[in-house]
Amino acid sequence: ATAAAAPLPVLGRDVLVPLVTGGEVTYAALDYAASAPALQRVWDDVAAYAPYYGSVHRGAGYLSQLSTDLFEASRATVAEFLGCRPDDQVVFTRSTTDSLNLLAAVVPEGTQVYVFETEHHASLLPWRGTDVTYLAAPRTPRQAVDSIRSALAGCDPERPALVCVTGASNVTGELWPVRELAAAAHEHGARIVLDAAQLAPHHPLDVAGLDVDWVAFSGHKLYAPFGSGVLAGRADWLQDAEPYLAGGGASRRVARRADGGVDVEWHTTAARHEAGSPNVIGVYSIASACRALTDAGFDRLVEREQHLVARVRAGLAEVPEVRVLSLFGDDAPRVGVISFVVQGWNSSHFAAALSAEYGIGVRDGLFCAHPLVRTLLGTEPQDPGECGAPDAEPGELPQPSAGGTPISLRSLNAIRVSFGAGT
Ligand code: PMP
Repeated sequence: ATAAAAPLPVLGRDVLVPLVTGGEVTYAALDYAASAPALQRVWDDVAAYAPYYGSVHRGAGYLSQLSTDLFEASRATVAEFLGCRPDDQVVFTRSTTDSLNLLAAVVPEGTQVYVFETEHHASLLPWRGTDVTYLAAPRTPRQAVDSIRSALAGCDPERPALVCVTGASNVTGELWPVRELAAAAHEHGARIVLDAAQLAPHHPLDVAGLDVDWVAFSGHKLYAPFGSGVLAGRADWLQDAEPYLAGGGASRRVARRADGGVDVEWHTTAARHEAGSPNVIGVYSIASACRALTDAGFDRLVEREQHLVARVRAGLAEVPEVRVLSLFGDDAPRVGVISFVVQGWNSSHFAAALSAEYGIGVRDGLFCAHPLVRTLLGTEPQDPGECGAPDAEPGELPQPSAGGTPISLRSLNAIRVSFGAGT
């Protein structure tokens, strides 16, 4: 690593591994793209606050007031971390998936949605019921921008339009040209939402500078524990729509009508979409992670991660059987997420062996981005290949041939290694 860099401590290596195995082991959890280990600093912050937590926006007592203050201060911390505009709203959700479904629920009627088929399912699928156009996989960042431009040139200017793009791919780790895509969207009067689930943990974000309208990310990928996420951005669509969830906390005033019905006045702040008792520990954890990254110097962590990316890629390049998956080519800038296949090996077997024999925890599969992985592998959606369905049970997979040499088969899924600020 460079002199600038030391990993941020995570809870796990020293405590959990000996606990489970009773001994000294080296274990490398390299599946940060699925869920990154929470930082020790986050656990410490949570432990310090845990004895005092109480209901948020719902109590006169001291603990309730403290929790409400911390909850709202967390909102301000996240807004600052994201580089939001002063009028933006930060809505706390359960996850990126939840955030994008929330946005899909509030888009004005008639909105035309444009999304690349290469997206994670969380950004590909929530737009059911809207007029959605799936754009073909671009093979360069430039093509992605051109593709958005020509799609928007054909959209109905009388109706709202929304582009949904990822900031960094959860499969290839490649960075998408967010600023250029935002400019292309705005040229045509469209809005843009950034799926930053993989970008936020690896790069400082600047919502205002990138000029994206909304950004979505998950706490559990940003070195906080599970259960909380964020949708931040323009207030207007959020506040013009019905609440995502109807219930207490979202409603300011509820009164029975003379005709027997009920009148509801909904909040016009982020609370409108946060009905029910919020996940105060989850929200506090996200804010704690944001502070930890900022205090450590996010740019230095990026520098260190890039050093690791280069090392892993150089190591993989030395193995002739390995093919690293890439949409935009080998030189494309990327975060610490690298997927590959090994010629002659089934990816699931390979990943299992990495764990069992070398203590390296990776992920194999299609990574909730089926169309993208199939494009990268060159397989057809229904292709049964030579080893059964990609999700086949291990018992159903073909065994090595009699001579013990690896069987030759076309990979139907891939292996992903991913890391970040705690690696
Ligand atoms: N988008 C991307 C790019 C992702 O990598 C993920 C998680 N793998 C998601 C969205 C969904 O995140 P979550 O499961 O936390 O909702």
